[in-house]
Amino acid sequence: MRRDLVSIPQERERRETRLRALESQAAEKRSGLQKREVELRSNEVGIKEGDQEIKKLQERLNTVKNNAEYQAILLQIESVKKQISELENEGLQLMEVVEGLRGELASASEAVAEERAVFEQFESESNELLAQREGEVAAMQGERSAAADGVPPELLAEYERMFDARSNLVVCPVEGATCTGCYISIPPNLQVKLRAGTAVVRCDACQRILYYPD
Ligand SMILES: [Zn+2]
Repeated sequence: MRRDLVSIPQERERRETRLRALESQAAEKRSGLQKREVELRSNEVGIKEGDQEIKKLQERLNTVKNNAEYQAILLQIESVKKQISELENEGLQLMEVVEGLRGELASASEAVAEERAVFEQFESESNELLAQREGEVAAMQGERSAAADGVPPELLAEYERMFDARSNLVVCPVEGATCTGCYISIPPNLQVKLRAGTAVVRCDACQRILYYPD
């Protein structure tokens, strides 16, 4: 139960880290897309401005007095048309890029939403479990201190020391002639001592405290 108190928050953190990573991937895609959308808008503005310039140049064609000026304006129109055509090609490429990025952003957002739903579910379940475990641990600690009452302090100190070192298993029943802590046989002289019930008997192999179950 104590292990749960440690492992549940660890698992929560692991999942939250994964969720934050997906969120930041989606945010990167979003800002990349926004940058391209700005480029696309300025490309569209450029084309519109080019069209207006051509309109103005064509109006001027009607008012010019000599052929040289007329030819010069025709050249300008050609040059603006060329610029517009380049902008249009760039615009088509940009549109493709924007479409692609929109698709990528949609999948990234979907992955975030899925992960977030799973995370929120885990969080609410694990909070419940954690609260339950905390209550259980507190109750058991009460039972534990009550059971420790009257145990000689030296023995209790030995028990506490061994508790972490021996995987929380310190007092073991003997089954057949085997220690159930380490599954090694108890020699006959220890068995006799154990049956006498007059001293605390420890397993030779793992030092756990032994008893015969009733
Ligand atoms: Zn043992």
